[in-house]
Amino acid sequence: MERLEQADPEIAHLIRREHQRQNGTLELIASENHVSIPVLNALGSVLTDKYAEGYPAKRWYCGCDQVDKVEQLCIDRAKELFGAEHANVQPHSGTSANLAVYLAALKPGQKIMGMDLAHGGHLSHGLSINLSGAVYEATHYGVQDDTERLDMDKVREQVLAEKPDMLVVGASAYPRTIDFAAFGEIAKEAGSLLLADIAHIAGLVVSKMHPDPVPYSDFVTTTNHKTLRGPRGGIVLSTQDWATKVDRAIFPGIQGGPLMHAIAAKAVAFLEAMKPEFKNYAGAIITNARVLAEELLGRDWRLVSGGTDNHLMLVDLRSKLPDVTGHQAAIWLSQANLICNKNAIPFDPRPPVQTSGLRLGTPAITSRGLGTQHMKQIAQWIDEILMSQGDPKVIDRTASAVTELCLEFPVPNHNL
Ligand code: PLP
Repeated sequence: MERLEQADPEIAHLIRREHQRQNGTLELIASENHVSIPVLNALGSVLTDKYAEGYPAKRWYCGCDQVDKVEQLCIDRAKELFGAEHANVQPHSGTSANLAVYLAALKPGQKIMGMDLAHGGHLSHGLSINLSGAVYEATHYGVQDDTERLDMDKVREQVLAEKPDMLVVGASAYPRTIDFAAFGEIAKEAGSLLLADIAHIAGLVVSKMHPDPVPYSDFVTTTNHKTLRGPRGGIVLSTQDWATKVDRAIFPGIQGGPLMHAIAAKAVAFLEAMKPEFKNYAGAIITNARVLAEELLGRDWRLVSGGTDNHLMLVDLRSKLPDVTGHQAAIWLSQANLICNKNAIPFDPRPPVQTSGLRLGTPAITSRGLGTQHMKQIAQWIDEILMSQGDPKVIDRTASAVTELCLEFPVPNHNL
């Protein structure tokens, strides 16, 4: 940081401030994490200088000997980690990975069917104002109103009625286990291709803490930066049959030059995720989420679907505070150094900018080293702040207590 400090004190200052912010707050946003120092080292390397359009040994530029090896290593590790036949590690994001799959396999106007955004799906699964919904004809399935879970018989009925060219499974805010085998059967029956987007749960999948979609899917996409704890970006995995089309869809289909520094950082993260310690980490994410959920339930907060099987939960604020929106609640918590996001709950009567829910996740706080005893404390803090309706005295008191806990567990503090 010293050279940056001299060259550009403004940016250096803002990076330091962000580091202080991360260090002094607890990150409960379910899609965020804290990467290791080796991942940061790879990201901040000279690989950012290199243009490498194309793929290893098939580049449009000279001087790619080293980056070829980096990308090949990353591809090999991705294939090994996920047990996939083919891996493309170039997507700049999870959304790019999904768009590339559509481009590889579909023609404009063909049908895709994914989980409803309002029930926990993602923008890139066919929202009308996303390219996925503008170019393809999108319909959606959702959770049941009584259980708030996917009912696979109902999903099957809907899929067979629609017969989409591609069925998309995966979510941004679904706290329960996804039955990928059942989705595979349904896709087969309907004659649909299957895309499993495991952006949120990839770290749980590779640690065998969540069922694996790879054996049942034509395509699997993920971000690297959520439970997988890698750098921002995505990958596409596919069967060998789709390898050429997937690669062409990423480059030159939707991207130009790959971000070689990010690819190196993905490779470092994949190596970390192969270690036994990572399996322990993934187990701790789930244990922490379960305890946090139990503690909130014990304080009479209703959780969507009654709890969690994975790394996240959705709190229905109406259960104790019918007049408080997710928007307001998230602001109160952030003032107390507990960072989370407002989130629609299924069948939410409020608009998405307000919402009746909060989404809480444990990947980042588990990376920091927090355990079950801390989950009890966090649940108590959340309950006190919300029930005080943002009383400044309660917020100030809690903010200091949170900072004290944070000082004990600095970020990044894991060095696999
Ligand atoms: N797919 C799912 C299920 C997600 O939750 C997300 C991000 O939240 C994405 C895709 C998109 O990832 P990105 O933000 O990298 O485009």
